[in-house]
Amino acid sequence: MKHLRQRVLVTGGAGFIGSHLCERLLDAGANVLCVDNFFTGSHDNIAHLLPHPQFEVMRHDVTFPLHVEIDAIYNLACPASPIHYQHDPVATTKVSVYGAINMLGLAKRTGARILQASTSEVYGDPAVHPQPEAYWGNVNPIGPRSCYDEGKRCAETLFFDYHRQHKVAIKVARIFNTYGPRMHPHDGRVVSNFIVQALSGKPLTLYGDGAQTRSFCYVDDLVDGLMRLMATPGDVTGPVNLGNPEEFTMRDLARLVVELTGSRSELTHLPLPEDDPRQRRPDIAMARSLLNWSPTIRLVDGLERTIAYFRRQTNAWGLQGLR
Ligand code: NAD
Ligand code: UDP
Ligand code: UDP
Repeated sequence: MKHLRQRVLVTGGAGFIGSHLCERLLDAGANVLCVDNFFTGSHDNIAHLLPHPQFEVMRHDVTFPLHVEIDAIYNLACPASPIHYQHDPVATTKVSVYGAINMLGLAKRTGARILQASTSEVYGDPAVHPQPEAYWGNVNPIGPRSCYDEGKRCAETLFFDYHRQHKVAIKVARIFNTYGPRMHPHDGRVVSNFIVQALSGKPLTLYGDGAQTRSFCYVDDLVDGLMRLMATPGDVTGPVNLGNPEEFTMRDLARLVVELTGSRSELTHLPLPEDDPRQRRPDIAMARSLLNWSPTIRLVDGLERTIAYFRRQTNAWGLQGLR
C-alpha cells in the first residue's frame, strides 16, 4: 500500500471520522501521529489503538504551531456538529483558519502532502441541486452557522493559495453528512440523536416539517474516499465531493430508525434551526472518475451497524426504556 512506513499526521484523530482513519492507516502500515485537543474527541475512540507500536497520540491545539517530521497530513481538527461549533464560534473560526495556516506551514517546511477535511457546508443552503464542485455556494456570512461554513471556506482558500504560492501538494475533500459508530452521542447530529432517542424510548425530535433532505455516507466508505484522494497524483488537488448520493428526508430517516431499532418512540416537531439547508445531495461524478470511488454501504445497512454500536454503549451511558 502507498502508506507503508509513511509518517502520517491525523489532526482531530481522536474524533469520530479521525479515529476510523487512524485505524485504517495503521492497517495499511503507516506510522500514525494522532494530534487532538480532545474538545469533541475522546480517549475511548482511540483506546484500542494505543497498544499499536506504530500509533502515537499528542494532546495539542492546532491553532498553535506544531513542529514534527511527517510525510502526510490529514487535517480533520474542527468541531463538526452545530451544537459544538456554535458553542464557541470564535474558536471554531480560529481552528479552521489558524489550524489550516499552521498545518500548511508544516506541510511547506516538511514537503508533506496535506489533505483538508472540508465540508458540504461550503455550499450553504444550495440553490443548485445536487451540488457539483463547480458550484460556489449560497452561504450566509453573518449567521450562526457562518463560523463553521466561512471558516471552512477560508481554509479552502488558504489551501489553494499555499498550493499556488508555495507549491504545497494539497488535496481538498468536501465531505457530506457522515455517520457511523463513535459518533458523539450528544452532539446533536440527526443520526445520533434519532438513534439515542429511539433506543431510550424518547420521542424523535424532527426539526421543522422534516421535509428537508440530507444524504448520509457511512464512515468506512468516507475514509476509503479520503485515502484514495490522498493517494492521487500530485497534480490532483480537488476539491472533490465525498458523500453518498442517496437522498432522504429527515421524516423518512426518523421512520427508518424507529423501524430498525424496534422502538415505540413517537415523532415530535421542534422549530427548524436558523439557516438550516433545505436540501443536500452530492454530485460525485468527480470522485467516481478521479478516485474510482463510490459508496458501497446502503443507509439501512450502515444504520444497523450504527444502532448495534449505540446498543453496546447503552449501559455505559445509562440509556433506559428500550421497547
Ligand atoms: P468530531 O468532532 O468527532 O472530530 C473533530 C476532532 O477534532 C475531535 O477529536 C476534536 O477534539 C478535534 N479538535 C477540535 N478542535 C481542535 C483543535 N483546536 N486542535 C486539535 N484538535 C481539535 O467530528 P468529525 O465528524 O469526526 O469531523 C472530522 C472533520 O470532518 C471535521 O473537520 C469536520 O468539519 C469534517 N466533516 C465532517 C462531517 C460529518 O458529517 N461528520 C461532514 C463534513 C465535514
Ligand atoms: N508552522 C508550524 N510548523 C512548522 C512550520 C510552520 O506550525 O513546521 C506554522 C508557523 O508557526 C506559521 C504557520 O505555520 O505560523 C505558517 O507558516 P509559513 O511558513 O507559511 O508562514 P510564516 O512562518 O512565514 O509566517
Ligand atoms: N435534525 C432533526 N432532528 C435532530 C437533529 C437534526 O430534524 O434531532 C435535522 C436538522 O435540522 C437538519 C438535518 O437534520 O435539517 C441534519 O442535521 P445535522 O445537524 O445532523 O447536520 P447538518 O445540518 O449539519 O447537515
